[in-house]
Amino acid sequence: MAPQQASTEQLETAVRGAVITSSDPRYDDARRVYNAQIDKRPAVIIQCVDDADVAAAVTFARENDLDLSIRCGSHNPNGFAVNDNGVVIDLRPMKGIRVDTATKTVRVQGGCTWGDVDHAAHAYGLAVPSGIISTTGVGGLSLGGGIGHLTRKAGLTCDNLISADVVTADGNRVTASATENEDLFWALRGGGGNFGVVTSFEFQAHEVHTVYGGPIFYDVEKGPEVMKLFRDFIMDAPEDMNAFFAYLIVPPADPFPAELQNKTVAAIACCWAGPVEKGNEMTRPLREFGPPLMDGTGEMPFPALNTAFDGLVPEGLQHYWKADFVDDLTDPLIAGHAMHGPSIPTFQSAMHIYPVNGAAHRVGKTDTAWSYRDANFTHVIAAMFPDPADTDANRDWVRRYWDELRPHSSGGAYVNFMHEEDQERIKASYRDNYDRLAQVKAKYDPSNLFHMNQNIRPA
Ligand SMILES: Cc1cc2nc3c(=O)[nH]c(=O)nc-3n(C[C@H](O)[C@H](O)[C@H](O)COP(=O)(O)OP(=O)(O)OC[C@H]3O[C@@H](n4cnc5c(N)ncnc54)[C@H](O)[C@@H]3O)c2cc1C
Repeated sequence: MAPQQASTEQLETAVRGAVITSSDPRYDDARRVYNAQIDKRPAVIIQCVDDADVAAAVTFARENDLDLSIRCGSHNPNGFAVNDNGVVIDLRPMKGIRVDTATKTVRVQGGCTWGDVDHAAHAYGLAVPSGIISTTGVGGLSLGGGIGHLTRKAGLTCDNLISADVVTADGNRVTASATENEDLFWALRGGGGNFGVVTSFEFQAHEVHTVYGGPIFYDVEKGPEVMKLFRDFIMDAPEDMNAFFAYLIVPPADPFPAELQNKTVAAIACCWAGPVEKGNEMTRPLREFGPPLMDGTGEMPFPALNTAFDGLVPEGLQHYWKADFVDDLTDPLIAGHAMHGPSIPTFQSAMHIYPVNGAAHRVGKTDTAWSYRDANFTHVIAAMFPDPADTDANRDWVRRYWDELRPHSSGGAYVNFMHEEDQERIKASYRDNYDRLAQVKAKYDPSNLFHMNQNIRPA
């Protein structure tokens, strides 16, 4: 149902941010999301500037019985940040960040990207665990879990959430923390955007300034041996060490050597966040394995590592993703990877394996909504390509690869890496926590107003 003209005008008087409908010259820009395959036409986009705007937008969607999307970084490949004929709460104008150096905490408004947070926290020698790309939104990444360069040292992003201000489906604002609305606080840490609009996050930050890291490329023929090296290295490494494995095509651009450009390689990208002078020594096993094709490691400010791969995945690519958790990188699983990893169809596409052990394992399975505390790894097969004509080739590669690995799955997947999945897969990803999530959903959003997400249905 589309909103009446009169009620949109009412909305304009209620909010301070821009209210954008299809006749507005800003409309096409405002509705565009990161995945270029998504082409949704919302009835109204509200570019909220404060909590009051968010509350008015939530109330407007509820009272007019309209679909409601929440937009932060818009990275979700499913395009949950927009919808057809409904309301979009665009949080991008809400960019405030306050770093408290005494408590080493960072207060972040709901429209920030991780690049914004890195910039603000780095000035004080601090960092909040995030992902590996700086343009990803704080909102979606943290509420779904958050896996990145500091996972083994400091846990998932959601493990570092101290409190959140949330506008709930009734238009009220509540604070969720270990001492207030504890059920909501539990659900927000992994349960995604199911429970309300988080207008402000408070995170624990960590003393991380200069890290030793970067990618190391190996001959693709050695992929299985490199994957075993990665497995053995990261299972035993101190928690200050993080690394992920990748099959990738070396981008045809500087600073990559001409002879490697467009070549498919096996890679390990590492991040040592302990005493920086020990970085070279701590990463030595990755070089001693055999002379790599390229060693791109070195000392760098943490934000430099967090932006190092941004150029590979600009806005406007087509996306198709599949993922799973695995308990271990067993030899049969590695053989499955070797069958499909080397045949990546286009250079932005890749397969990554991230460790989810270390500090992330110190949180119990039922302590937060994020259940897979016993899995050691998650893989994601991500096709990203500029030309829609390459869709079939990329989808086929992802599907064949994912199908091959499925027998080795722990059962579910990381919700932030899931694309075009059904309700059973969502349940499998929360395992025993699903029923409790459904209870919290019934309390805070009984009519499922917030359903543009990996949806948890109200009990
Ligand atoms: C190039 C790329 C790299 C990535 N790298 C990583 C990585 O390293 N680690 C990792 O863990 N994930 C990674 N992801 C996955 C990413 O975490 C998810 O796509 C996530 O959903 C993106 O969040 P967003 O805010 O950018 O997206 P959006 O599409 O804006 O939002 C995603 C979902 O979260 C909800 N949401 C967003 N903000 C709020 C809020 N403030 N309150 C309530 N709900 C909200 C939205 O409604 C939507 O359902 C990557 C994705 C891409 C495309």
